[in-house]
Amino acid sequence: MKIVQLFGKGVCPKCGKGDVFSNLGNILKFSSPKMNESCPNCGYTYERENGYFLGAFYISYAISVGELLLVYFITQFFTKNVWEIISMMCLVLLLLIFFNFRVSRLIWIYIFNK
Ligand SMILES: [Zn+2]
Repeated sequence: MKIVQLFGKGVCPKCGKGDVFSNLGNILKFSSPKMNESCPNCGYTYERENGYFLGAFYISYAISVGELLLVYFITQFFTKNVWEIISMMCLVLLLLIFFNFRVSRLIWIYIFNK
Protein backbone atom coordinates (compact mmCIF):
# COMPACT_ATOMS: atom_id res chain seq x y z
CA MET A 1 0.00 0.00 0.00
CA LYS A 2 1.76 3.15 -1.22
CA ILE A 3 0.11 5.63 1.15
CA VAL A 4 1.30 3.63 4.17
CA GLN A 5 4.83 3.70 2.80
CA LEU A 6 4.69 7.50 2.68
CA PHE A 7 5.07 7.57 6.46
CA GLY A 8 8.25 6.66 8.30
CA LYS A 9 11.40 6.70 6.19
CA GLY A 10 9.49 6.20 2.96
CA VAL A 11 10.46 3.82 0.21
CA CYS A 12 11.87 4.41 -3.24
CA PRO A 13 9.09 5.08 -5.79
CA LYS A 14 10.92 3.06 -8.42
CA CYS A 15 11.86 -0.21 -6.68
CA GLY A 16 9.72 0.06 -3.53
CA LYS A 17 12.51 -1.24 -1.29
CA GLY A 18 15.20 1.36 -0.54
CA ASP A 19 14.66 4.03 2.13
CA VAL A 20 14.25 7.62 0.98
CA PHE A 21 15.31 9.09 4.34
CA SER A 22 18.27 7.78 6.34
CA ASN A 23 16.85 9.15 9.61
CA LEU A 24 13.51 10.56 10.68
CA GLY A 25 14.80 13.64 12.46
CA ASN A 26 14.19 14.41 16.10
CA ILE A 27 12.55 17.65 17.20
CA LEU A 28 13.96 17.26 20.75
CA LYS A 29 17.54 16.95 19.49
CA PHE A 30 17.10 19.60 16.76
CA SER A 31 18.27 17.10 14.15
CA SER A 32 16.48 17.39 10.87
CA PRO A 33 15.58 14.41 8.66
CA LYS A 34 18.41 13.37 6.34
CA MET A 35 17.45 12.39 2.83
CA ASN A 36 19.46 9.86 0.85
CA GLU A 37 20.75 11.27 -2.44
CA SER A 38 19.86 8.07 -4.22
CA CYS A 39 18.10 4.81 -3.50
CA PRO A 40 20.40 2.41 -1.57
CA ASN A 41 18.73 -0.51 -3.36
CA CYS A 42 18.45 0.49 -7.04
CA GLY A 43 20.50 3.71 -7.23
CA TYR A 44 17.60 5.87 -8.38
CA THR A 45 18.44 9.59 -7.84
CA TYR A 46 15.76 11.31 -5.78
CA GLU A 47 16.72 14.93 -6.48
CA ARG A 48 16.50 14.96 -10.24
CA GLU A 49 17.67 18.57 -10.66
CA ASN A 50 18.63 21.58 -8.56
CA GLY A 51 15.60 23.00 -6.79
CA TYR A 52 13.57 19.90 -7.53
CA PHE A 53 12.04 19.93 -4.06
CA LEU A 54 10.88 23.56 -4.18
CA GLY A 55 7.50 22.23 -5.31
CA ALA A 56 7.29 20.18 -2.14
CA PHE A 57 6.90 23.46 -0.24
CA TYR A 58 3.47 23.90 -1.77
CA ILE A 59 2.47 20.44 -0.58
CA SER A 60 3.94 21.18 2.83
CA TYR A 61 1.95 24.41 2.96
CA ALA A 62 -1.30 22.63 2.08
CA ILE A 63 -0.66 19.93 4.70
CA SER A 64 0.14 22.57 7.34
CA VAL A 65 -3.01 24.55 6.59
CA GLY A 66 -5.06 21.37 6.88
CA GLU A 67 -3.46 20.51 10.22
CA LEU A 68 -3.95 24.04 11.55
CA LEU A 69 -7.61 24.07 10.56
CA LEU A 70 -8.08 20.74 12.31
CA VAL A 71 -6.36 22.03 15.46
CA TYR A 72 -8.45 25.20 15.34
CA PHE A 73 -11.74 23.33 15.10
CA ILE A 74 -10.77 20.93 17.89
CA THR A 75 -9.41 23.55 20.32
CA GLN A 76 -12.33 25.92 19.89
CA PHE A 77 -14.50 23.35 21.68
CA PHE A 78 -12.28 23.61 24.75
CA THR A 79 -11.48 27.32 24.85
CA LYS A 80 -12.68 30.56 23.30
CA ASN A 81 -9.45 32.41 24.12
CA VAL A 82 -7.80 33.33 20.80
CA TRP A 83 -4.27 33.28 22.24
CA GLU A 84 -4.71 29.79 23.62
CA ILE A 85 -5.93 28.61 20.22
CA ILE A 86 -3.03 30.31 18.40
CA SER A 87 -0.44 28.94 20.82
CA MET A 88 -1.89 25.43 20.43
CA MET A 89 -1.69 25.82 16.64
CA CYS A 90 1.96 26.93 16.88
CA LEU A 91 2.79 24.02 19.18
CA VAL A 92 1.23 21.45 16.83
CA LEU A 93 2.97 23.04 13.84
CA LEU A 94 6.34 22.84 15.62
CA LEU A 95 5.79 19.23 16.66
CA LEU A 96 4.82 18.18 13.14
CA ILE A 97 7.50 20.16 11.29
CA PHE A 98 9.68 17.15 10.38
CA PHE A 99 6.67 14.99 9.65
CA ASN A 100 5.42 17.61 7.17
CA PHE A 101 8.89 17.91 5.66
CA ARG A 102 9.16 14.18 5.03
CA VAL A 103 5.60 13.63 3.84
CA SER A 104 5.64 16.60 1.46
CA ARG A 105 8.89 15.46 -0.16
CA LEU A 106 7.66 11.88 -0.41
CA ILE A 107 4.40 13.01 -2.02
CA TRP A 108 6.40 15.21 -4.41
CA ILE A 109 8.61 12.26 -5.40
CA TYR A 110 5.61 10.02 -5.88
CA ILE A 111 3.73 12.57 -8.00
CA PHE A 112 6.44 12.52 -10.67
CA ASN A 113 7.38 8.84 -10.53
CA LYS A 114 5.40 5.76 -11.25
ZN1 LIG B 1 15.00 2.12 -5.45
